[in-house]
Amino acid sequence: MAVFVNRYPENVPGKFYVDDQCIDCDLCRETAPDNFTRNEDGGYSYVYKQPTSPDEEVLCKEAMEGCPVEAIGSDGVEAAAVSPAQPSPQPQAQ
Ligand code: SF4
Repeated sequence: MAVFVNRYPENVPGKFYVDDQCIDCDLCRETAPDNFTRNEDGGYSYVYKQPTSPDEEVLCKEAMEGCPVEAIGSDGVEAAAVSPAQPSPQPQAQ
């Protein structure tokens, strides 16, 4: 199961993301090329565009279910709500 806090920083915010378990097998990029692409230097995939149509949503879900190492998550919106990328500064105790 993908872990939101372990996602690659290139993932655009939103529902789907790729975490650091990716083994660069190419399946997601083949399945949903409008949403997944490759970091050439790092050798892994990330979500460069969240799905904007029902068809893209289906393909992203298919990619997630087909990922051999379960590196794709679809809980990005919920996880971001409870685990913001930039924590708010805490008030200083006087
Ligand atoms: S299907 Fe999974 S392991 Fe394969 S490239 Fe995509 S995220 Fe990485």
